[in-house]
Amino acid sequence: MVITVAAGKGGTGKTLVAVNLAVSLHRAGIKTLFADADVEEPNGHLFVNPTITRKEEVAIRIPRIDENLCDCCGECSSFCSYAALARTPSRVLVFEELCHGCGGCAILCPMHAIEEKERVAGVIEHGRTGEGMDFMQGILEIGEPKASPIISQMKRSLAPDAVNIVDCGPGTGCSVMTTVQGSDLCLMVTEPTPFGMHDLVMAVKMAEALGVPSVVVVNKDIAGNSEIKQFCARNGLDILLSLPFSREIARLNSSGINLVDDDKQWESEFLSLYEKATSRVGVKGGLS
Ligand code: SF4
Ligand code: SF4
Repeated sequence: MVITVAAGKGGTGKTLVAVNLAVSLHRAGIKTLFADADVEEPNGHLFVNPTITRKEEVAIRIPRIDENLCDCCGECSSFCSYAALARTPSRVLVFEELCHGCGGCAILCPMHAIEEKERVAGVIEHGRTGEGMDFMQGILEIGEPKASPIISQMKRSLAPDAVNIVDCGPGTGCSVMTTVQGSDLCLMVTEPTPFGMHDLVMAVKMAEALGVPSVVVVNKDIAGNSEIKQFCARNGLDILLSLPFSREIARLNSSGINLVDDDKQWESEFLSLYEKATSRVGVKGGLS
């Protein structure tokens, strides 16, 4: 079981939901892996304090042109969809930041003038929390523009015999789509603001395009707000949990304290969220 926790917008409480859900499952005796795939800024570790036992580098393969062999035919630059190669009259320029490491240019070069060298894009850390919950986080190298290779490698390390709670990055870009793709369910965390509403629509559309069913968690919920509820009702999206707009929750969260550590009642709330969510796996809706 892979549950991705996403939000079209940053700051909605995505990590709060992901961490509290994972900890609740682990304490209920369900084998759980918490994976922080917000690789540009992973902060789930602040809430679960894991001991890191293993690190693995993630490298992408970048072309290197042998100018002694290259005849500047330009086939490689015509092929590259990412404009990472540019042919000049005398040589081929490589823009490493744009390269996605697909390897296509090296395969098709008729002069066999392209070798590949590895460039480290980031690291994946594996560990375990003090309570024994499995933990993993991806960390993007500073200045590295592409998060997807790290996330793809993290996905290969998910535990097939566990519930994997995967905290996505914000937004609906490539890296989030890479994370959500293939998951069993996407928990959409939103907040009752115009921005939250706007970005929820985008995130639900993204999950729908990927064929991943969505359910909704509303954070900072306030009485009288009905726009998100109406949207969800219109589109067959279940709101499975509402966290109140609360100064105390904000204080706990900003202090790195889990809700489930402050009040045991939250464990049953998050377990109930899990049970309702898993009963929705396989259900798909259409936006209106
Ligand atoms: S395909 Fe090979 S020979 Fe042609 S320009 Fe690219 S590197 Fe040079
Ligand atoms: S490896 Fe792929 S993305 Fe990178 S330069 Fe070659 S064709 Fe372009």
